[in-house]
Amino acid sequence: MQATRLPRLWRHLLLLLIPLGLLLSAWQAALLAREEALESLHKEATSELRLAAAGISSYLSRHDYLPRLLASRETLKRALANPDDPVAVMNLNRIFDEFRAITDVSDIYLLDRSGTTLAASNWHLPHSFVGQNYSFRPYFQLAMQGQMGRFYGLGTQSGERGYYFSAPVQLDASSRRAEGVVVVKVLVAPLEGNWSSQNGELLVSDENGVIFMASQPDLRLASLTPLDSAVQRRLQQTRRYDGVPLDTVSLATFDLRADGSRLVRFERGPLHEMAYLALSRELPSLGWTVHMLKPLTSLESAQWQAGMLAAGLYGVVVLGGGIGWQRWRLRRERELFAERERQTLAEGQARVRGIIDRTRAGLLVLDEQASLAYLNPTAQAIFSHTPANVEGRHLTELLTPADARRVLALRQPHPSSAVEVLAVRPGGDLVPLELTISPLVSPHGERWLATVFDLSERKIQEQALARARDQLEQRVEERTRDLLDSNRRLSAEIDERRRAEAELRQAQDELIQAAKLAVLGQMAAGINHELNQPLAAIRAYAENARVFLDRGRSEAANGNLAQIVELTARMAEISAQLKQFSRKSGDSLTAVSAQASFGYALRLYRSRLTEARVEVIQDWPVEDVWVHADLVRLEQVLVNLIGNALQAMSETPAPRLELSIVEENGWVRLGVRDHGPGIAASHLGRVFEPFFTTKATGKGLGLGLSISARIVDDLGGRLEASNAADGGARFSVTLRASGAANPPTAARLSQTGALSLCKENRHA
Ligand code: ADP
Repeated sequence: MQATRLPRLWRHLLLLLIPLGLLLSAWQAALLAREEALESLHKEATSELRLAAAGISSYLSRHDYLPRLLASRETLKRALANPDDPVAVMNLNRIFDEFRAITDVSDIYLLDRSGTTLAASNWHLPHSFVGQNYSFRPYFQLAMQGQMGRFYGLGTQSGERGYYFSAPVQLDASSRRAEGVVVVKVLVAPLEGNWSSQNGELLVSDENGVIFMASQPDLRLASLTPLDSAVQRRLQQTRRYDGVPLDTVSLATFDLRADGSRLVRFERGPLHEMAYLALSRELPSLGWTVHMLKPLTSLESAQWQAGMLAAGLYGVVVLGGGIGWQRWRLRRERELFAERERQTLAEGQARVRGIIDRTRAGLLVLDEQASLAYLNPTAQAIFSHTPANVEGRHLTELLTPADARRVLALRQPHPSSAVEVLAVRPGGDLVPLELTISPLVSPHGERWLATVFDLSERKIQEQALARARDQLEQRVEERTRDLLDSNRRLSAEIDERRRAEAELRQAQDELIQAAKLAVLGQMAAGINHELNQPLAAIRAYAENARVFLDRGRSEAANGNLAQIVELTARMAEISAQLKQFSRKSGDSLTAVSAQASFGYALRLYRSRLTEARVEVIQDWPVEDVWVHADLVRLEQVLVNLIGNALQAMSETPAPRLELSIVEENGWVRLGVRDHGPGIAASHLGRVFEPFFTTKATGKGLGLGLSISARIVDDLGGRLEASNAADGGARFSVTLRASGAANPPTAARLSQTGALSLCKENRHA
């Protein structure tokens, strides 16, 4: 379709050119029609003008002879010679009238030497010329000079336009002197009578351009061009137009044509704005010019008609062309369509054939007897047959006899499901195949399509797959076995680890215990002192009591015994504290009062704090703050921290110990801050290492902080060391807060005190 479509640019050009062509052809046709009309007008005017001019000349020249003829008449001469003889004059009048009637002229009259009318054909009429003087007329003056006179003008009596012929009358032939003048007047109006039937205007103008005669009455005695004063004066002298005002109609030429005609227009007067084709012809014998004016109105309609006709014709031609083009296009498109259809069909067939030939399935077309009609190349390869030696043979001949029977039963109106069969190749080889048979729509009668797939490769792959599956199963079994083994090993290792961990914990506990014992060992001297002092006092009090009893001073003895009781109570307290310290802690955590924990630790150091004048600041709320901990272990940590603080402040002049408890966000921070020298920056990272100590041998083992850290860790909290900005070390124990639901009342009641001694002694 695209092939027959005009390019876009061309279509646009055509759209522009068609109306342009229409306009051009209409215009050209109009121009031609105008030329043609002008030409025919010209022709018409030429012949009409010739006729009119001839008519005028012949009409007027007809009477040329008459004055001369009359001048020679005796009757006329007699009357002229005897102007006072009424009979002669009357006679002449009658003769003039007779002649007038015969020759069909207007008037005949005789003037005497002075120009006065002596006799006239209209003697009996009211406007009779008799007695009128016409000496001013040129025809009189010329005739008196012995010439033939001619004149045109308005009659002074009648006011009618006439042409005058005159001749001199000589009484004596020898003298040749004019004694009078005979005049014949011819009216011009009858001439105009014929002109009115003409299509156009006929004008006769004199040498001054005054229209003397005209087919259009309104134009008569009008001037074609304005008259100058000299001309007007002359006209007055001869009284040619006898005072009639000569209006100007101004006939202007607007086109001068090559054929001599002019296109003119009246610029004034009754035919104002009317346009004509004008032709003029001179009548020299009369001194006139005849003008033929053909109106141009016919021109316009001719132009219009021609234009319309041309446009119509053009339209027909263009329409015809368009229809022809459309028909051609349609035919071409139909041809192209058919061609494309043919191509598509051929391509489709080629594609189908290509698909059939290249498909990996073997295709066999069978006729109604199941004989082979066609094999595609794949089928040929599968069966190892060329089409030539197999086409026409029965399908079953290509299969084992057992399969042949099964296969024939597959021909059913619907496609059969696939069956596996064995094909027999020419050499006797068997090929496993998958075969399907389906009915085929064919114009050649009943047909079947057998589709075969070579299964040899699939069979090989299936075997390989089975082998691989077996191997995989075997590998999985082996791996499962390995896995079970390693699992068992792992369990054993885990057990081993657990055991090792338990052992480690026990070792750690033992280590703590050992550390305690070490501390106890260190404290032994102190304890010794602590116990020996009351013992010695008890002994002294006892001896004194015996002496007092011996002397019968039972009251004094009683006082000594009371002292002994008090001292034994104190010793019992010391021993209880030692027992507490050496006790192994339990595993279960409970709610422990942070204030109480600090209280127990402080009690251990009571005497030492007093001795060293240590100012203790306790910054905590009145209400108990409960932490999730084990009382004994937390106490042990605080004892260690306070002990270290006191040791650090041994040289400090005004020792001050700041203890604090702050609870926030579910955590409780217990702070121990001293005003000693603080921890050297290089030691900060190491103070929690076991056996790290800066103290002299025998003064410190370097186990206190490492054990404390371990304990706090076990309690689910953390122990941190830092230096305060204004000197001194600061330790903080952060533990999880616990609700006061289960306050350990028993633990709160435990009384301690021995440890204060031990630390004091250690220090001492
Ligand atoms: P020991 O007290 O037996 O040396 P610790 O584990 O309790 O063992 O302390 C380890 C070290 O940490 C101490 O030797 C000391 O150098 C430093 N230390 C502990 N507490 C303080 C403290 N309050 N002020 C300064 N140094 C401290």
